[in-house]
Amino acid sequence: MNSTAQHIAVIGGGLAGLTAALDIAKQGMHVDLYESAPSLGGRTQSFFHHPSQSWVDHGPHLLIGAYHHTIALLKDIDALQNTQWQNSLNLPLWDMQRGHFSLTTSKLLPFPLAQMHAVYKMPHHGMKTLPSLLRMALSMKNISSDKVSDWMIKANIHPNLQRDMLEVLCLAAMNEHMHAANAASFAQVLQQAFSTHHTARLGWFTKPLSQALIQPLESHCKTRGVHIHTSSRVLALHAHQHGCDVKTRLGKKHYHQVILACSPSIRNKLLHIEQPIATQSITNIHLWFDQQVTLQTPFVGGIGTYGQWFFDISQQFNTKASSSHICAVISADKSKSSKTKKVHTVLQELQHITQQPQLQPISQRIITVQTATHCVCPIARPNMPKHTIDACEQPTEGELPATIETAVLRGHRAAQQCLTNTN
Ligand SMILES: Cc1cc2nc3c(=O)[nH]c(=O)nc-3n(C[C@H](O)[C@H](O)[C@H](O)COP(=O)(O)OP(=O)(O)OC[C@H]3O[C@@H](n4cnc5c(N)ncnc54)[C@H](O)[C@@H]3O)c2cc1C
Repeated sequence: MNSTAQHIAVIGGGLAGLTAALDIAKQGMHVDLYESAPSLGGRTQSFFHHPSQSWVDHGPHLLIGAYHHTIALLKDIDALQNTQWQNSLNLPLWDMQRGHFSLTTSKLLPFPLAQMHAVYKMPHHGMKTLPSLLRMALSMKNISSDKVSDWMIKANIHPNLQRDMLEVLCLAAMNEHMHAANAASFAQVLQQAFSTHHTARLGWFTKPLSQALIQPLESHCKTRGVHIHTSSRVLALHAHQHGCDVKTRLGKKHYHQVILACSPSIRNKLLHIEQPIATQSITNIHLWFDQQVTLQTPFVGGIGTYGQWFFDISQQFNTKASSSHICAVISADKSKSSKTKKVHTVLQELQHITQQPQLQPISQRIITVQTATHCVCPIARPNMPKHTIDACEQPTEGELPATIETAVLRGHRAAQQCLTNTN
């Protein structure tokens, strides 16, 4: 059948679903995108915070230069200007004993040398940990361990390098601690990120995600003719010989192909698949102050602190105001403390980091996204019925973990699959 006569449904209006819908619509196909929430964006959605009269992300998102597909998409939807990038890697860190220090690579050196120099310069490193960096690089080609912590033991990686570099990166990239994170997937992340100055640098959005990313994507989808149905939960799917029927509260509609870009647990429910799905949470503690609370850099990684990352949102958004918005992020948060205690702990840490002992927030909000990411797990993706395509987040061992980059990639791949099936 001619591709322009094809009717395609996309289930899920997060980054993966929107990317797939845009790609398919560009080929002239009719696309209906169904999103159960009142607005698009999924986990990259923002909400309006009345006390500060501002849009706020559930949690801030970091980018790395190796996010080639995300960067290309941002260019395509004229949104790259909504991000800011380091020139080369600078990982600002802080601990109680050493204060501020960083893993900073000099662009004057070729990347591998710059990386060695950066580790050498960190306090409590030097020749003590440099050989570990080399051992790690060598062992990366042939990972035989299941978990990152086993890999570290096998490769005899110095505890200081684990604490100041690897645990920080593992939590940020995998949203899991080293004892739980898959070694082969983490090695993939390190190989992709630590290959050049360009890929290793970090980036961030200069506006809330709904404005920086989702609105431009939605607007490009609409221009290309995608029919977007928000507040439209898909209740049932029926795949048969001639296509797939999609049921929402408004009734049933026939499609030639259906892309599932919702969570894997919803996919399994819709397709009656029995399969355990492992997820990991992220806790975000937002604090607003009626005074300037400026971090030395747009974000700081805490070593030995409860708050793993402290994001200076006002600095990232370049907000010219006397007030400040800081967000502390805790990946794979296992603390059983009360919300009040968590906020208190993070505030004390922030007081030390900024050396502003009198800090008191005027407003606070703690958001724990329970299903922030789907963990890398050994279970393979299920076989999909004919006329359905899987674009759900379900990384398996050795694959890149769940990030916005892999969401964009899943969207592109599902659209490609859809086109291949048509031709
Ligand atoms: C707090 C937080 C911080 C993060 N930080 C980072 C970071 O720093 N860097 C990074 O790269 N990544 C980060 N991530 C991960 C990243 O946001 C996700 O991996 C990515 O957004 C997933 O996109 P997606 O489209 O696959 O899924 P989702 O965004 O979950 O989209 C799925 C959509 O499907 C919809 N849906 C579900 N069921 C139905 C149904 N029956 N009918 C219709 N629609 C349905 C949902 O409402 C949702 O909108 C973070 C995530 C969180 C939560």
